[in-house]
Amino acid sequence: MSKKADFVKFDKVDKSYDGKVLVVKDLNLDIEEGEFVTMLGPSGSGKTTCLMMLAGFETPTNGEIFLDNNPISNIPPHKRGIGMVFQNYALFPHMTVFENLAFPLKVRKMSQEDIEKKVDKALSMVSLGGFANRMPGQLSGGQQQRVAVARALVFDPAVVLMDEPLGALDKNLRESMQYEIKHIHESIGVTVVYVTHDQGEALTMSNRIAVFNDGKVQQLSSPDKLYEEPVNSFVAEFIGENNTFGGEVSEISNGTCKVKLEKGEIIANPISVKSVGEKTTVSIRPERALINPKDKMDNNQKGKIEEVIYHGDHTRVRLNLLGNSEFILKVPNSSQNLDIKLGNEINIGWNSHDARALDPK
Ligand code: ADP
Ligand code: MG
Repeated sequence: MSKKADFVKFDKVDKSYDGKVLVVKDLNLDIEEGEFVTMLGPSGSGKTTCLMMLAGFETPTNGEIFLDNNPISNIPPHKRGIGMVFQNYALFPHMTVFENLAFPLKVRKMSQEDIEKKVDKALSMVSLGGFANRMPGQLSGGQQQRVAVARALVFDPAVVLMDEPLGALDKNLRESMQYEIKHIHESIGVTVVYVTHDQGEALTMSNRIAVFNDGKVQQLSSPDKLYEEPVNSFVAEFIGENNTFGGEVSEISNGTCKVKLEKGEIIANPISVKSVGEKTTVSIRPERALINPKDKMDNNQKGKIEEVIYHGDHTRVRLNLLGNSEFILKVPNSSQNLDIKLGNEINIGWNSHDARALDPK
């Protein structure tokens, strides 16, 4: 069965609550059937507003949202075939787990026999087969969220929306639930639109991630592309770590540019600069700068070690380099880390490809 390309489509969607400020600006987003797309961004960037419009609890100020090619503005929430899980979207406390899951099916006037089958199936999907007769209060936080996931899936919705569903759980549980939701998604192939401000969560779970800032999608890409090829300083800063240098483009040629800093110069990858004289921020990932590189690299600098922190599998080294005393290196731990001693001057190299000249911060 071929997947429908634009199963969920935001077309030029704006949203203003007060008629003045746009909190979502010109949102264009095509989600493929069966895809797991995450809206990732800082608090207040407009993620929840987008989900609420898709769910039908808010209306776009401009533009239209389509579900399977049908405009949905005039369809009420309960007729959109959308399941939902929210951080505080509590279970009905006075109903058993079974009754909680049966509720959306009863609303849809399903027979008792079908209801029992579907509830059974949904509960075993979240590994809670034996819990049908428990009350929500008799479950742990993680179990309650699994029931909430099962309740969102039980009526075979076309799309499931999840807004920070793991936000209230502690770190270990959150991580295991990330894998659990990812596996459920893989096994049933439902379309998921997920919201989080946690980049690790987004990278772990998603087919594609839409990075939001200030009501606008900054970049929509697969997790590896977002990390490897951020299109601007905001994305480079928000996903993963980066070292930054502010400077000015002094030369530009095929595929590389020179960036003049207050102290020194970097050969960089001209991602968002076009001409000499432009201001830029150069971004370098901590694992892409190497100590005493054996191979020839485009950039070679001396750095002084200011701090060394042992992290088990890697060591985190803070250097003073090219006038930046916050330059971080991540070095995989091996017996070769002999030069990493506080106060040492060491050679650091990186390739121009890994030094992205982006918009100035
Ligand atoms: P996020 O989910 O990314 O944290 P939201 O979509 O909740 O962001 O909020 C985006 C902006 O819209 C914020 O400035 C927020 O204060 C505002 N906002 C959200 N909901 C409402 C509302 N019901 N009425 C007025 N303003 C709102
Ligand atoms: Mg939100």
